[in-house]
Amino acid sequence: MFIDTHCHLDAAEFGADQAELVEAAQRAGVSRIVVPSVERANFATVQALCAQHLGCAPAFGIHPMYVERAVPDDLTVLRDYLALPQTVAVGEIGLDFFVEHYDRARQEFYFVEQLKLAREFDLPVLLHLRRAQDIVLKHLRQHPVRGGIAHAFNGSRQQADQFIKLGFKLGFGGAMTHPRALRLRELAATLPLEAIVLETDAPDIPPVFLARGQPNKPEYLPRIAATLAELRGVSLAQLAQATSQNAAAILPGLFHP
Ligand SMILES: [Zn+2]
Repeated sequence: MFIDTHCHLDAAEFGADQAELVEAAQRAGVSRIVVPSVERANFATVQALCAQHLGCAPAFGIHPMYVERAVPDDLTVLRDYLALPQTVAVGEIGLDFFVEHYDRARQEFYFVEQLKLAREFDLPVLLHLRRAQDIVLKHLRQHPVRGGIAHAFNGSRQQADQFIKLGFKLGFGGAMTHPRALRLRELAATLPLEAIVLETDAPDIPPVFLARGQPNKPEYLPRIAATLAELRGVSLAQLAQATSQNAAAILPGLFHP
């Protein structure tokens, strides 16, 4: 069994093909899919998709690349979604200092407010981090949460160790299938296995075996995992078992709604 800890099932690229997508994933052995949201406008869609499709679990949050159009009242709406029994995490939240013309203060405001909500609801968080690892770590120390997943992790080993110390797992996906991603592959090969969870980030981060322009899909997770198994010298079955156990431990709501 595999768990895709990060898949944007509601993305425009998928049109209305979610049923097919989820069935194909199930057939491939991906039995749980975590669906993060990105802003107030997609909370209801994410909730509805997860209610309709087997094994899909929602997370609710305001993504750093969407804070520009967020208003403080969105946090009140978010609170109602976090109170739903099926919610498994606050996400996707974080800081992105890569995007052009970002408003750092605004991103940090929404990030911190959502960390407070995660604490209040005792929920794990799904973190988006780009060029902001150390600042995210600083905020996590000031506003501790019960842990979560540093999604699409691409920091240093030292930063990875800091996240692990704070109760986080690190999400690995299609990026490590690229032979030239040497630093990331080294990290994926050498981090403690207990710290790793799998994700596709579909439809984004296409693995190397996809033709250019093809969207990533949750059904590709076992093929992505095969790279990691090879890098670590373990069997695919062992890797599936370990990473699923890690995902279940960090997102307890996945199996105990
Ligand atoms: Zn995402």
